[in-house]
Amino acid sequence: MKPASPFQPNLPKVSEPSGGWAETDLDWAGVRDEAIHLLSQLIQFDTSNPPGHESLVAEFLADLLAAEGIGVKLLAATPGRANLVARLSGDGSRPPLLLLGHTDVVYADASQWRVPPFGGIVRDGYVWGRGALDMKGLLVMQVMALRLAKRLELPLARDLILLATADEEDTGRYGAGWMVDQHWYEVAAEYVFGEGGVGVELDGQQVFLVATAEKGYADLTLTARGLSSHASTPSGDNALVALAQAIQRISTYRSRVQLTEPVKGHLAALAPSRPWPERQLLSGVDLPLVNAWLADRLDLPTIRHALRNTFTPTMAQAGHLANVVPDVAEATLNCRTLPGVGLGDLVGEVRRRLGGLPVEVGVRQFNPASASPTATPFFTAIAEAARRETPGAIVAPYMMPGATDARFFRAKGVTAYGLMPVCLTSEEMATIHGVDERLQVAHLEQGTRAILHLLFQMAGRF
Ligand SMILES: [Zn+2]
Repeated sequence: MKPASPFQPNLPKVSEPSGGWAETDLDWAGVRDEAIHLLSQLIQFDTSNPPGHESLVAEFLADLLAAEGIGVKLLAATPGRANLVARLSGDGSRPPLLLLGHTDVVYADASQWRVPPFGGIVRDGYVWGRGALDMKGLLVMQVMALRLAKRLELPLARDLILLATADEEDTGRYGAGWMVDQHWYEVAAEYVFGEGGVGVELDGQQVFLVATAEKGYADLTLTARGLSSHASTPSGDNALVALAQAIQRISTYRSRVQLTEPVKGHLAALAPSRPWPERQLLSGVDLPLVNAWLADRLDLPTIRHALRNTFTPTMAQAGHLANVVPDVAEATLNCRTLPGVGLGDLVGEVRRRLGGLPVEVGVRQFNPASASPTATPFFTAIAEAARRETPGAIVAPYMMPGATDARFFRAKGVTAYGLMPVCLTSEEMATIHGVDERLQVAHLEQGTRAILHLLFQMAGRF
């Protein structure tokens, strides 16, 4: 079902599955070659974060886009780590749409790879290298779509902004976080389209997971206190033992299942492809407890980490000498929270679980979950663009267990979604942050076409 949108009814030739502008007006073989070459070039800039060196990519793209008459700005919070803002101006009748990409990548251990991770090698139908999927590949699709919009001289109702950030793989404080804080006027938009979602196959059904939400992130500390004594005459009040009991208790704890809006939307979208009685229950029958019970028993990897808050001990420290009973012991608890869970709720939940133990709960860091509404014309346009390239696919909202730059925009009230609009195999998925990361050449073209279609739908003036 399409929500009412002034941009959709008058676009017959754009919506045509064949014979529209996309197939006839552009030399897609040429576009594909250009995209392959560009991705290979971007991979060859080693932007492993830390330290980043993202200016290498930002400056390269700035020159490329400026040469085609697209306005660009480089803004850096610290030397060598520039963020790129490129803008194609519309008539101002609608607020901007922002394409959000990041230029940094995670570390690659070359000894594990079949090809040099920063070689940008094109072979066997793939572009290989660190960042091919996360996310220089999607960034190239975005850049190509923007360039094509410019070359086609598309009359625009909205400004199209491309923001290529530094520091996404770390805290974002030199990247999206800093841009939103310090240069909001450069990146203010109604809609943001970035990373996080992708097409996958679930039980034989192709499903595009559109990232509409991210769980929250918290680092809590558990501090146990006891009485120091000589280990040869132990006091029985050992802080390390108390901490071990706390870790044991928290690691056997499962938080209550909660069906939040992003998960409800996800299940409702998938319901038609599921067997009865899942279909019956997930398609909107208002039985929260039964549905929560059922959802917890579904073999659905896409909701496995989206149903509850999680509490994972990740670091611990106690003692200074082998023969001294420690009077203090501390552990770090990495927590991922559902939408609507505040810091007080989270600390309260941990305290209840640890009731009776001599352990204090402290807070080192907390970023709440972020979620965008899904009943928007933008979501519909994304679904259309994805299905146009992969007929028969289901498009479902998706809550990510991890975090992306989208959270900074959602915190400003912007509707932000993430999708690389191609279907990856599980083998390809496993290369993200892993070894032999690679993107199919065919997917580069397909993704570029889908994003260009999306831009036309959302920003074209008709
Ligand atoms: Zn990424």
